[in-house]
Amino acid sequence: MSKIKLQVRPLNLKLKHPFGISRGSITCAKNVLITLHFGDIVAYGEAAPSTYYGEDQNTVTKFVNDFIRDKSAEEYITNIHKLKDDLDYFSANVFRLSAPSARVALEIAFWDLIGKINNKSLYQYFFQEDDPFLVSENGYQDIPPTSYTIGLDSLLMIEQKAKEALLKGCRVLKVKLGHGYEQDLNILKKINEITKEYPCILRVDVNGGWDLETTKKMIDVLPMYKVEILEQPLPKGSVKLLSEIYEKSPIPIFVDEDCMNSRDVESLAGKVHGINIKLMKSGSIIEALNMINLARSYNLKIMIGCMIESSCGISAAASLSPMTDYVDLDGHILLENDPFSGLLFENNRIIPSFEAGLGVDLSLLN
Ligand SMILES: [Mg+2]
Repeated sequence: MSKIKLQVRPLNLKLKHPFGISRGSITCAKNVLITLHFGDIVAYGEAAPSTYYGEDQNTVTKFVNDFIRDKSAEEYITNIHKLKDDLDYFSANVFRLSAPSARVALEIAFWDLIGKINNKSLYQYFFQEDDPFLVSENGYQDIPPTSYTIGLDSLLMIEQKAKEALLKGCRVLKVKLGHGYEQDLNILKKINEITKEYPCILRVDVNGGWDLETTKKMIDVLPMYKVEILEQPLPKGSVKLLSEIYEKSPIPIFVDEDCMNSRDVESLAGKVHGINIKLMKSGSIIEALNMINLARSYNLKIMIGCMIESSCGISAAASLSPMTDYVDLDGHILLENDPFSGLLFENNRIIPSFEAGLGVDLSLLN
């Protein structure tokens, strides 16, 4: 019998405001929490399944329970790469569903467990040198500031959300667009008006909501609104069209939905400026590290992003943030109640935890 006890349960995360993107709006993220009990140690992992990628709470729960059955999970404590290999094999050949958020949730939980057993934080495992950002005399300057998302909504609500973000001290705003040229332009004008007294940087994420003509028109006007990055303007599967316009674009074009894993990174080289890596898409922290190395070798800029997640999932992603160019790890800040605590948000930066494992504690669960 395994000495590791695994528990899988729904983690419903209520948002402060409805979170709107071009494909729709949600008020609650239906995530899944994984808990590992090993002796006195309790470790956590989180899945943020997305129906867009073929997952929900039920598929994640079934995947994790089916996977762990008959496994001697103790061996993963000393061989996390075997866990990744077994998860990859199981998803491809047994479960026959990619289930990236289910796979990474288990991997995160085992990283947390391994870190707690060995008293090492996650980022200490991922960097060759010790404390690559702690040595900075300027505090945490080596960590890119995170953006804070202003979801699609009525102009009045967008105004309210932007004002709240500024009050929180957020200075990098990711504006969700995709309602069409006129409406999107009105949103940008409104955000620009609200932020003009502040040293703000704007990013635009369309989640595939524009066609080529709208993208071309918007590319010409975005620089006037202090926009530094355009993310996923065209629907997933339109990279060929993007490759025809990206070189002339005055601002970098990133893809998110079009970039799941290392195979996608290879096919995107020379077609866009950068990629948005998310653990919930890559299905593995180890795979995300592979993607970062591969993207660097192809001169692709790297953003580390997230879904709507508690600071459990965000902490895992934040451990990789000093290796990236742009950070978009605000999922937990958008929540009404983050059930986990311990992750620092300072001067627009999510600070990778120095504590063992993920460095977060479950403090509140409805
Ligand atoms: Mg995106």
